[in-house]
Amino acid sequence: MVSCVPEIRIRKANRGELIEDAECVVYWMTAFRRLRYNFALQHARDLAVELSKPLVIFEPLRVRYRWASDRFHRFIIEGMRDNAVACQQQQVLYFPYVEPKPGAGSGLLAKLAELAAVVVTDDFPCFFHPTMIQTVARKLPQPLRVVDSNCLMPLAHAERTFTVAHSYRRWMQKELPQHLQDFPEEQPLDCDQLKPPPKQLLQAVQKSWPAADLDALLAKDGLCEFEIDHSVPPVDQSGGSQSAGQLLDQFIQDRLGSYDEERNEPNARGSSELSPYLHFGHVSPHEVFERIMKAERWNPDKLQKPNGKVNGFWGVGENAEAFLDQLCTWREIGFNMSWREPDYDQFDSLPEWSRKTMKAHIKDDREYVYSLEEFEQAQTHDPIWNAAQRQLVREGRIHNYLRMLWGKKILHWTKTPRDALDIMIELNNKYALDGRDPNSYSGIFWVLGRYDRAWGPERPIFGKIRYMTSENTAKKHKLDAYLERFSD
Ligand SMILES: Cc1cc2nc3c(=O)[nH]c(=O)nc-3n(C[C@H](O)[C@H](O)[C@H](O)COP(=O)(O)OP(=O)(O)OC[C@H]3O[C@@H](n4cnc5c(N)ncnc54)[C@H](O)[C@@H]3O)c2cc1C
Repeated sequence: MVSCVPEIRIRKANRGELIEDAECVVYWMTAFRRLRYNFALQHARDLAVELSKPLVIFEPLRVRYRWASDRFHRFIIEGMRDNAVACQQQQVLYFPYVEPKPGAGSGLLAKLAELAAVVVTDDFPCFFHPTMIQTVARKLPQPLRVVDSNCLMPLAHAERTFTVAHSYRRWMQKELPQHLQDFPEEQPLDCDQLKPPPKQLLQAVQKSWPAADLDALLAKDGLCEFEIDHSVPPVDQSGGSQSAGQLLDQFIQDRLGSYDEERNEPNARGSSELSPYLHFGHVSPHEVFERIMKAERWNPDKLQKPNGKVNGFWGVGENAEAFLDQLCTWREIGFNMSWREPDYDQFDSLPEWSRKTMKAHIKDDREYVYSLEEFEQAQTHDPIWNAAQRQLVREGRIHNYLRMLWGKKILHWTKTPRDALDIMIELNNKYALDGRDPNSYSGIFWVLGRYDRAWGPERPIFGKIRYMTSENTAKKHKLDAYLERFSD
């Protein structure tokens, strides 16, 4: 028997009518690029079974979105390859499409939709996704169902925008347990009620828009003809659900036991490193949660009374508690903001106190002012900052603690806070694998006061914004190995 996705996670994006005599159900996979623990795929599967039609999974990659580069293309295509392999064992048609030239993919979704009784897609509340969905919804004659598989908490459950972590945490502790009973299925495609798709189903569409040859694209120079930024090369880490699963295994086995102590140590490899996989949807937060809790031998009876505290609510070890606070509070408060506030990426969405204090200090003397290019090329006077920037450019990540310092110093060394914001967004989203995510804007806007409070004493440039220095960072943390690794 097929289970149902909770109603609260499903949005009707248009008023299209079901096309009863259509050939199939189409799942248009844009953000949750995985076949496991995926409510959107599960809903498409439910509809396919209910309507007794085959399921087509369409996973496209556009060529010209902002910051498209070899780094992100490769990571996404590696994920597509994992999906293609996994779908070979299943009763579905998987259609990966990588747009070869700008505009080449236009018309494809409309053509594919001519075959569909209903189209299901992913409800990702950030970057180009919300606008893209609105545009497509207006054009489709059949229903477009948009499904939220972003977080443990359904995004529509919150009736307000949370502006500080402790109030989100207190609310989450009260509200999340009821949703933990509604987990997505581990393997929604393991379902014997799916109708086998006829082999010819996509033939006409694929004549004009051939399925991507993923191995060829992943071969050396496979992307060289693409109009994407070739100055941002791939990193050593592979994308896809396979790699995400291996990383999660390793983290639980080797690093979860010391997470709380080690995650802030730049010399150590203490955190999960899952953020790129969470961002591209290669792994689900539900799966991460389930695996952590299994390792902790948790069951819901262990839950403590909600108390708003960082530690102790889940009734697991303190390292797992610390990790769950990142996953369930810090990650999800950012989704709450971008889901509810269309200006989440605009300077004026900052709290009033922070805008006011930065404005009061806008004319303060600045000993160092660097341009975007100087920041990008790690040409500041500060070896710690330069090392963090080199890590970002080379590895597509920055160590979590240094990422905070990295942002604070950009605020310190630019002419205005608005310039600082633009530079942080540009560098983070151009180089970080986990960029262009609700958490990108959480982290960057946190630097400027979001989710924080006023701090004293009032300082030049920062005013009451929380201040960080490289000197203190060097005193508090061992940095020798990190600095050596990224010395030039
Ligand atoms: C200036 C700045 C920019 C940032 N840009 C991004 C970004 O582009 N994308 C991004 O995912 N995170 C961003 N963060 C938040 C944080 O740095 C990363 O989420 C974290 O370092 C990812 O590493 P990890 O997966 O090993 O985290 P872990 O410590 O293993 O945590 C597990 C998961 O919890 C979430 N998480 C952890 N820390 C935070 C946090 N502080 N805020 C929100 N979620 C968190 C992430 O999804 C992470 O994968 C930024 C922070 C700052 C200060």
